[in-house]
Amino acid sequence: MRMDVLTLFPEMFDGVFNSSILGKAQDKGIVSLNAINFRDFAGNKHSSVDDMPYGGGGGMVLKPEPIFSAVEDVLSRRTQERDKSTETEPVSPPRVILMCPQGETFTQRKAEELAKEEHIVFICGHYEGYDERIRQYLVTDELSIGDYVLTGGEVPAMVVIDSVARLLPGVLGNENSAVSDSFSTGLLEYPHYTRPAEFRGWKVPDILLSGHHANVADWRRKEALRRTWQRRPDLLDHVELSPKDRKWLEQLQAEREHGDPIG
Ligand code: SAM
Repeated sequence: MRMDVLTLFPEMFDGVFNSSILGKAQDKGIVSLNAINFRDFAGNKHSSVDDMPYGGGGGMVLKPEPIFSAVEDVLSRRTQERDKSTETEPVSPPRVILMCPQGETFTQRKAEELAKEEHIVFICGHYEGYDERIRQYLVTDELSIGDYVLTGGEVPAMVVIDSVARLLPGVLGNENSAVSDSFSTGLLEYPHYTRPAEFRGWKVPDILLSGHHANVADWRRKEALRRTWQRRPDLLDHVELSPKDRKWLEQLQAEREHGDPIG
């Protein structure tokens, strides 16, 4: 997979792209991550990429020409690379994603959807906003990382790239760790413990030390349900629940209503 980020601050991506799991994923050839300065496509004497808004008011607006040209350059370079390679499949059109607080809220489901793509281009805004024609005629998606406003789209793009890249086969050392993660199962993840078995008088639940895999799996399912019920009950409306899961949730509800202890 290839992910290209169009930004005015490519240096912001150095640490994120070259460290830890993303750095290793690139070394292994699983993903290629590139930060491209769209100021290089300004096409004017002063390399200006923004201008005052028509109609007046504060803030500067990102001009369409540099961003359209940068996206078109990325696409034509990719087509040329493919033409030189031995691959016969035509280049599939990339997703072009505008980072924007007005976009669809990013979720694990969206990360899973994007992880199936071959090529994604991210556009990071700055200042007041983008010329509306970028939104209308260039992009395939608009993504927000939450209902708050940041100074630029770089941190949001990093969030999306990181969560997509870790889903690619071979990126995580232990494939199962993405499968049981919070949201992947539709639930929040169960609690984890490691050595020592007792720390300052606080003990690890006996069942985790039992070596009985079926009982451990059962405990984890119940604790994931408990945690989701306590913290994010909204998620339970979208997850497939077995009769046993439902019975457990009813027990938890009864505990809350009557103060009964639940084992
Ligand atoms: N005036 C814009 C508005 O009210 O929608 C906000 C512009 S913001 C200061 C500058 C840039 O930061 C945006 O164009 C976008 O790229 C990025 N950004 C800010 N908050 C974001 C969020 N929650 N999700 C994704 N991108 C965001």
